[in-house]
Amino acid sequence: MKIGVLALQGDFREHKQMLEALGVEAVEVRLPKHLTGVHGLIAPGGESTTIGKLAAEYGLDEAIRERYACGELAVWGTCAGAIWMAQEIIGYPDQPRLGLMPIAVRRNAYGRQVESFEEDLEIQGLDRPFHAVFIRAPVIERVGEGVEVLARHGDRVVFVQQDRLWASSFHPELTGDTRLHARFVELARG
Ligand code: GLN
Repeated sequence: MKIGVLALQGDFREHKQMLEALGVEAVEVRLPKHLTGVHGLIAPGGESTTIGKLAAEYGLDEAIRERYACGELAVWGTCAGAIWMAQEIIGYPDQPRLGLMPIAVRRNAYGRQVESFEEDLEIQGLDRPFHAVFIRAPVIERVGEGVEVLARHGDRVVFVQQDRLWASSFHPELTGDTRLHARFVELARG
């Protein structure tokens, strides 16, 4: 079982470490050929414009969409990665993106005063709260048909699933709690 971590920009190393802590083989994905044998892909936090531009430049987004359409790939976008997953990025119509999920996200939705914070979240399917780190986080303002909400922060949607796609506003790779990574590996195993 191989899980890829999109390694164009952002904190992909921390995701790799989480997977390795679970005993899962983690590979850095920079080019379409790195997707060979990979059944799940995690897109990290970072800067979503940069990630989107580089992924388009390397032909990765096209390759990922194809593999997903064939049912061969699960994809999880975290923070900037979640923005990259969205069909609509509010206020940034031209930003390059993977665009697989029918969701509308707002970048930097918490504004300047509260750029970063941590919060214990109730997440569907987890028996106890997950300590989530939000860093200049987006929120998911609208979800399309077939998209299930897995977690909210107050009344804001911060974690969604559609089939084998996940998008989370927060960073799940910074606290050493491997429960979500373990669940994603199960989703990828499908
Ligand atoms: N604010 C960043 C963006 O819009 C995302 C921040 C993050 O990934 N921690 O791309």
